[in-house]
Amino acid sequence: MNCADVEILLADYVDGTLRAEERFALEAHLAGCAVCAELARDASAAVAFMELTRRLWPEWEGECELRQMWGPEDFAPPKE
Ligand SMILES: [Zn+2]
Repeated sequence: MNCADVEILLADYVDGTLRAEERFALEAHLAGCAVCAELARDASAAVAFMELTRRLWPEWEGECELRQMWGPEDFAPPKE
């Protein structure tokens, strides 16, 4: 698995819908790739945010928009 594969599978990974062998391969890549590990962290945060939003504002329909935006360029490193 390479970084491009991770990008494709990441949304399903954070949703927990990946098949086991895909998840293992992805996690193996994350363990050795800081860029994708960061991407996965940000994606998990985005999912957590959407979960929260859905709970607070069940009528909010922004999820699809967020998903379409998902890409490496949308995951700028946090400014600290
Ligand atoms: Zn990578």
